[in-house]
Amino acid sequence: MNRISPRQVLNPLIDARASKIEDPIEKLRFLRHSDRRVGQVETVLGRPRYWWLRNRKLWLAVFFALLVPSLTLFRPATPLAPAAEFVPPAPAVPRSFAESPLEKVWLVETKGGVETWSNGLHIETRYATTNRPREYYVWNRNLPASSLTQLPSKQAAGIVFHTTESTLEDLVEHKTSRLKLLGESLVQFAREEKAYHYVIDRFGRVFRVVAESDAANHAGKSIWADSKWAYIQLNESFLAVSFETQTRRGDEPPVVSQAQIDAGRLLTRMLRARYEIAATNCVTHAQVSVNTSNFLIGYHTDWAGNFPFEEIGLPDNYAQPLGSLQLFGFSYDNTFFAATGTRMWKGLGSSEDLIRAEAKEKSLSIAQLRTQLRNNYRRLSALLPENNSPMAEKTIADSERSQ
Ligand SMILES: [Zn+2]
Repeated sequence: MNRISPRQVLNPLIDARASKIEDPIEKLRFLRHSDRRVGQVETVLGRPRYWWLRNRKLWLAVFFALLVPSLTLFRPATPLAPAAEFVPPAPAVPRSFAESPLEKVWLVETKGGVETWSNGLHIETRYATTNRPREYYVWNRNLPASSLTQLPSKQAAGIVFHTTESTLEDLVEHKTSRLKLLGESLVQFAREEKAYHYVIDRFGRVFRVVAESDAANHAGKSIWADSKWAYIQLNESFLAVSFETQTRRGDEPPVVSQAQIDAGRLLTRMLRARYEIAATNCVTHAQVSVNTSNFLIGYHTDWAGNFPFEEIGLPDNYAQPLGSLQLFGFSYDNTFFAATGTRMWKGLGSSEDLIRAEAKEKSLSIAQLRTQLRNNYRRLSALLPENNSPMAEKTIADSERSQ
């Protein structure tokens, strides 16, 4: 058989295109994306029933007939079109998620240290503790970056999902004692650090740690924005739900049990109903974490690419633009990029598109615009009261234990 490999055909084309991309991050994204697509092509062609596609003559015919005009397939997640061709991205959140009313969820009873909620959620309260009351300021993103607003409500505005990065054990029956010990020592640790509001252990047991009315030390320096408000330092404004698991890079499947997913869904639903939290404000630590010393995002990378949004009952919020990039001029490096999965690339790409469009509208270079946005961040940060800023970056985020 006259065989030919897809890589032989496609690699020169991919290399030629990559050589025209100046931005190293965009080049990396393009190469990774293309490599993945070529791998998919190889997998398909490797199947026995596609033997005929491995024929050189057929390949050449397919190549000339289809692949040359449809090289758009190999474009990276971020459009490389110049700003002049910018088309505003479609809303990241399907209307059904954004607008579906949340059913009421209420407390049915508290018995033996366990709360039972009307949607089937059970919360263990024996490790519950308190911290400073929640109190926070937000920036109205439609106003100049010179003042902050304290909302009359002191309710949480969103949820940040974390991983505990603690020791994991196989989820098998004969290790039950060990699994219980690991889960509960983790909750005790979180209690001492006033780390999260909730921890979900490997059995799907939901433990309350810090009271919902209080701040918790979970997010470190962090930013999120919805359509109206920008939130800076989310310890004060967002609830923290942490899954007992370890981070897996990129698109690798996460190590979470079905019981954890089920519990996470019920807990998220209860919190959203109770505090009227928008689906778009339920995000992962990797999406909100920033490093203000170098203006890079992703100081913490838990749930950087594989949070089960859909299974938890949320839209794929990885597709949302990041407020840190769009509003405050942060950027990202290859280290962060390598930690993310393809789903997060959509959010990075749409953030970059918005930055390009704004720079064009203001007749600024992207670098000039970023400088302005970073100054906005500095100005707003300086206005934050002590409590709204993380305490010398000593947060649970740093103690998410690597053992
Ligand atoms: Zn975290």
